[in-house]
Amino acid sequence: MAPNVDRYNRKITYLRVSVTDRCNLRCLYCKPVRDLKLLDHASILSYEEILKIIRAATGLGMKKVRLTGGEPLLRRNFVLLVESVCRIPEIEDVSITTNGVLLEKMARPLFEAGVRRINVSLDTLNPLKYAKITRRECFDAVWKGLQVAEAVGFLPIKVNVVVIRGLNDNELLRFADLSVRKPYHIRFIEYMPIGRNNNWTTERYVSSDEIRSKLESLGPLHKIPHFIHDGPAERYRFESAKGEIGFISPISHHFCPSCNRLRLTADGKLRPCLFADNEVDIKTPLRNGCSQKDLREVFQQAVASKPRRHHAEILEKREGLRPMSTIGG
Ligand code: SAM
Repeated sequence: MAPNVDRYNRKITYLRVSVTDRCNLRCLYCKPVRDLKLLDHASILSYEEILKIIRAATGLGMKKVRLTGGEPLLRRNFVLLVESVCRIPEIEDVSITTNGVLLEKMARPLFEAGVRRINVSLDTLNPLKYAKITRRECFDAVWKGLQVAEAVGFLPIKVNVVVIRGLNDNELLRFADLSVRKPYHIRFIEYMPIGRNNNWTTERYVSSDEIRSKLESLGPLHKIPHFIHDGPAERYRFESAKGEIGFISPISHHFCPSCNRLRLTADGKLRPCLFADNEVDIKTPLRNGCSQKDLREVFQQAVASKPRRHHAEILEKREGLRPMSTIGG
């Protein structure tokens, strides 16, 4: 069996790297306001260490990297890391997930560093509601950031919307309309029960099927064929829309059989599944001076321990108690 193929015959080619656990927002479904101890700087991987790990991963067939957090744009000299990752020849696709608060200033330098694909998280188009969800008044900054990203040439610009009943499920049609007017890929993400205090309840959860049937009141949604870098989103488009609609359904239609990911946490753990807390420590061997070959073996261990599927929808079987902000979404 190839070293990046797991026990269930999935080929692991995608690494999501969390570069920090810090965030400038406090989204009520993501980051607990209390009881969250921040990592001390010494325990966070340096850029040099992250690059060594990514290079070792390419030796196992890793081809795609997403830089995330916490909020990645908060980390000092983040553009330098992006530039270095974009220069690794084996990495065919580099993307960033950001809350967009600092994007207005950073969009151009990031583009010039070589990245073309960006995901911006924005759960509401109402500034007051934005402040309620994120506990910060940054809507205008994010909106400006999106305009600059568009002007600079990012393609695609994906807008991540976590749908929560009673909070933003009355804005689905406004987001759909945005996908018609703007070249944005609006991606509705099912609210996931992850972390200890993320306020998830079955009543607040809205399935992708329900979201789609509400959107169809606007007109037919045309399915877009699946392409190689699409990931788990089911893609659709309204007639003559500039942008698209995507549905990401980790709960109602879990995509575990096609999962090709590993996550690297800011404190140097390889996490085989978002929803399971078994992690493989790669920082200690790295700091003890191990070889690239040893690092690849640590990767193989993480690949081998990927579970067949998650059971996040079954409360009694729930794992994944580390907050999302410290894992890297
Ligand atoms: N700070 C960046 C951002 O806001 O995009 C990157 C990190 S954030 C943890 C990555 C993504 O995870 C965001 O799109 C966020 O909405 C999503 N996320 C966090 N908690 C979630 C949850 N419980 N269910 C679904 N998505 C969640």
